[in-house]
Amino acid sequence: GDLLKKKRIAVLGSRSVGKSSLVVQFIENHFVEAYYPTIETSFSKTVKLNGVEYDCDILDTAGQDEYSILNSKHAIGIHGFVLVYSVASRNSFNMIDIIYDKITDFCGVEDIPCVVVGSKSDLKTRQVQSEEGEELAKKRGAAWIETSSKTNVNVGKVFELCLAEIEKRSPTTTTT
Ligand code: GDP
Repeated sequence: GDLLKKKRIAVLGSRSVGKSSLVVQFIENHFVEAYYPTIETSFSKTVKLNGVEYDCDILDTAGQDEYSILNSKHAIGIHGFVLVYSVASRNSFNMIDIIYDKITDFCGVEDIPCVVVGSKSDLKTRQVQSEEGEELAKKRGAAWIETSSKTNVNVGKVFELCLAEIEKRSPTTTTT
């Protein structure tokens, strides 16, 4: 039978890259054109992957700059990280390396379960090419994907990839 596995996932990234939209699309299956200028919110959803049900707590964070983007609350007890940049914002992409360093410093290990997400892939005003995102993720040993919360592309996949990254490093042993 299936076991319910609790996993805590933090969603980080620059302001207005679409963190809330991603989480809301995932949890509630709709796109919000204008959401609250993020207040920190936590959502829960059950995700099934490879026959195992995971009880996911998803933390939508509200950091605004490189100083407030990660505090201990965002790293303690977190199993996996979703790092979001917008493909239409070079600055938000540059922020990914900074956040990554903060997390690895905080955790004291280089190898963290992480998915790098290029959001707003529906926009024509692209500033970051797919290859660049892929390259960055590869360098860090993370998964990578481009998404659009607006057109609902690859949204569920983000959290499946995150769970897969978590499982890769600390496999859940199912008992009977
Ligand atoms: P957050 O500050 O990172 O939580 O960003 P929000 O989720 O509040 O989104 C910021 C803005 O980007 C809002 O106006 C959203 O409607 C818009 N947005 C979010 N996701 C997408 C997307 O996939 N495509 C487009 N075109 N706009 C998006």
